[in-house]
Formats: sequence, structure tokens, C-alpha cells
Amino acid sequence: MRKKLVPISLIVLLVLTLVPGPAAGAPAKTKIAKEKQAVLDWLGKPETVEKFGRISDEIWNYAELGLQEFNSSKLLADTLEAAGFTVERGLAGMPTCFVATYGSGKPVIGLLGEFDALPMISQKGRVAKKDPVVEGAPGHGCGHNAMCTAAAAAAIAIKEAMVVHGIKGTIKVFGSPAEEIVASRPYMIRAGLFEGVDAVIDNHSSSGFGTGYGVDGNALFSTIFTFKGKTAHAAGAPWVGRSALDAVEIMNVATNFLREHLPLSQRLHYVILEGGEAPNVVPDKASVWYYVRNSDERLEAMYERVVNCAKAGALASGTELASMRVISAIHQRHASKAAAELIQKNIELVGMPAWSEEEQAFAKALQKELGAKEAGMPDKVDKLEAPVVGRDFVGGGSSDVGDVTLIAPTATITFPGAVPEAIGHHWSNVACWYGSTAWKGLNAGAKAIAASAVDLLTKPDELAKLRKEFEEYSKIHPYKPFLPADATPPNDLNKELMDKYRALLEPASEIK
Ligand SMILES: [Zn+2]
Repeated sequence: MRKKLVPISLIVLLVLTLVPGPAAGAPAKTKIAKEKQAVLDWLGKPETVEKFGRISDEIWNYAELGLQEFNSSKLLADTLEAAGFTVERGLAGMPTCFVATYGSGKPVIGLLGEFDALPMISQKGRVAKKDPVVEGAPGHGCGHNAMCTAAAAAAIAIKEAMVVHGIKGTIKVFGSPAEEIVASRPYMIRAGLFEGVDAVIDNHSSSGFGTGYGVDGNALFSTIFTFKGKTAHAAGAPWVGRSALDAVEIMNVATNFLREHLPLSQRLHYVILEGGEAPNVVPDKASVWYYVRNSDERLEAMYERVVNCAKAGALASGTELASMRVISAIHQRHASKAAAELIQKNIELVGMPAWSEEEQAFAKALQKELGAKEAGMPDKVDKLEAPVVGRDFVGGGSSDVGDVTLIAPTATITFPGAVPEAIGHHWSNVACWYGSTAWKGLNAGAKAIAASAVDLLTKPDELAKLRKEFEEYSKIHPYKPFLPADATPPNDLNKELMDKYRALLEPASEIK
């Protein structure tokens, strides 16, 4: 996306000639501490790449939606338990949430890991045109199948190095369900699961290999508004009825007018969950699910205006706003600069995986199908770039990692595997996250996670930098959850959909 103003090939050639730095697929020549070399060696073994590649593919096959990830969560928790971790399951009121712990005492380093899929985007792996495994079923269009897998691989590598080299401290994997509905982390924090954690390394799948810092993404309220009216014969005596669907429609009209009068940082979207069952009966129940997104500073004021639109819908239609169920409410991401700088060095050490001819051919075929430039897979890791200061933040997605960034210094490693220009939350992304590129990408991500965690466990000065920066930031931006105290995890939200598709998807599974 960034325009290169000067041809850089000559500069790159010069730099590579003059400085013995890392190149694509090759480790740096700088001396690597034995503890770090141990995690890189363990993760570099072909059997390790294959083991976690297969776990990732298996979770891809399960394609389980948020808070229905029973098989995915179990596979990851069992893998960690078999490797010697103590695993607590069913935490914070969510059956698929787990925490796996190895070691004892300080420092405590946390790794985040997600494993949920997205609805409607089922697609065959490594097929470069739309071709669902099961029409209408969920699919891993955000690579979450590879993410907790990368964290688990990294954690086990760290544990091996802790044993061999006597590294002190604790490593924890936070098995975090339902990121796609941004649900789990505020509940996990509320349950005290992150207490005592000194620093957190998050990861996310990508086409590039990099990290970042500063404020990013949108804060969000995810709320279901339910209206109650009165049924009636829709033609015979409609004046007797009060349509709950009318309330939903009036609310939606009101919020769509509201957009014009909100700062550009906002995002607002909805789906109608219930809108009646037949046109000849006035619907007495209707509900609409909203994502209300804005910056941390603007979120609550915007949400209040959306609630007013709901009240207007009820008033105008003569119905009742029966409930406003907050599914989740989260902060923007406030990633640690000190953590990102430490992580960047390890990303450069690991380097971009070398992609095979077949992988390049698949990438180009997919890019062609999507009408994008046929550039293939990337060959360089990303540079660490400073966030643009002084701009008015303009929209974007959300992640419940945001809340974690406000309770411990946190940064995210984005690891490669997706074809550049593959579209997020789309069949093209599902196609990328199965098989060889996903295996290599998550393995590279695991190396960067493990190497960074080893730095934090073995270099007290590095950890102290993160802690100092975080403690200063916390004074200006203390954590105050947006999640209402009475909110409960939406364990039921995806049940019906997943019950419908689970039996159709499971025969594809490979690991039992
Ligand atoms: Zn994602």
C-alpha cells in the first residue's frame, strides 16, 4: 500500500552487502543467546512444523464459531497439557476458555491465542476460486486456526528451553474464545485471569510479518436490542397489533441518519436477528444486533445516541424496548512501544519464510481471481513504523485484545501465511489458512513469539522498560472496563448455527 518513491533494489543490495543483517528466510549473523537458540531450534525441527501445522489444519476443519469452539479448545488445551502445562478449563463463565501455565514465580509472561471461525464463508483450502466445503457453513477467514496454535507451539518451545537452561519464571497461554464477536477478554480480565501477568505477547495472522504500537482499532459496544409488541391479523385488524419489526426498522432509519452527525472515527452496523415469522401476523417480537464503534473517548457518547434511536423506535411504533443485551464492550488497542521494539528485533532475526514455487503459484492464481496484481507472496518482513501522530482517527475494526493492552504491556506479532490481497472475513482468506503456507507462517510467528518471551524471561532490563512505559501510560489511561458489570458471556449466541453445521464439517477432520 505504501508508495516507494525511489527504486530501492540498489539500496537493499548495498545494505545487504555492507551490513551482515538478516535476509529473507535467513537468520541474522549476530550472536544469539543459547536460551533463544534453543526455542528456535526446537520450533525449526520438521516434526514440530508438521505437528502444529496439522493442529492448525484440524482447527480449520472444525471451523467452530465463537463460544462453540469445543473441539478446537480441547485440542489446544490437551496439546499443552500433554507437554507438561497445567491447564484450567471452562474459565470466566465460558466453557471454551482455558489458561495453560508452566513454571512458577516472576516474571509472568502471557501469550494470547484465538481459535474461532466466521459464519457463511466455508471454502476449500488452497483452492483459488470460490468453492465451499459446505455451502453456508463457517470458515476460518481470519486465520484464527493458526493463532492459538502458534502460541501453543511457542509456549511449549519456551518450556523446553526453561527445562534445559534453568530459565526462571512462568509462561501462560490464554486460550481466548470468540474473538470474532470480541467477547472473551473483558470477561477473562473481570475474572482475574490476568492478575500478576507482567507482559503479554499477542499474535494475529496476516500476509506480512510485523508488529506495531500506539492506539489502533475501534472501541466497541456489541448489543442486541429486543422489542416487544402485540400480534394481530396483518390484514384483518392490523390496528390491533403493534409491530416489533416496525420498532427495529425505525431504529435503523434513525441510526442511519445519525451517521451523518458523528465524527469520522465512527463505524455502525447491524443485522436483524428476529423480524417476525410470516407477513400475515404482526410480529410481536423483533431484535437487532448492533456493533457501535468509535474511539475510547467517543464510544460512550455515541452509544447513548444509538440507545436513544432504539427508544425512538419503541415510542413511534407503540412497542416496548424489552431489553438491551450487551454481548461485549471493549477498548481500542494501546500497544506497547517497548514491546514492539523488542518483538521487531526477533521478527527480523526469524525472517520471512521461503515460499515454494507451488505456494507462489497458488498466491498468483488467487490474486488473479481477485483482480489484484499477481505479485505472489512477500519476501521481506515489515518495518516497524511509528503511528501517525495528530491525525483524526478514522474507523476500522476492533479486537478485545484492546482491554488486555490496558492491564499489561502488550504488543501483537502479525505472522504471514495469507496471500497478499486475499480479503479478510472472505472465502479467499479461508483458502489461504489451510496447508503449507499456514504451517510455515504460524511456525515463523511461533519463533518470534518464543524468542520475544525468552528475552522477557531472561533480560530483566528489557522487561523493566516495558513495565516503566506501561505504568506511566496507565496514569493517563487507566483501565475502566466498558463492559457492564451485569453482562454475561454470550455462550448461546452461535449454538444454533454451529449445531446445524458441526455434523457436516466434522467428517473432514484428520486428528482424533
Ligand atoms: Zn482475526
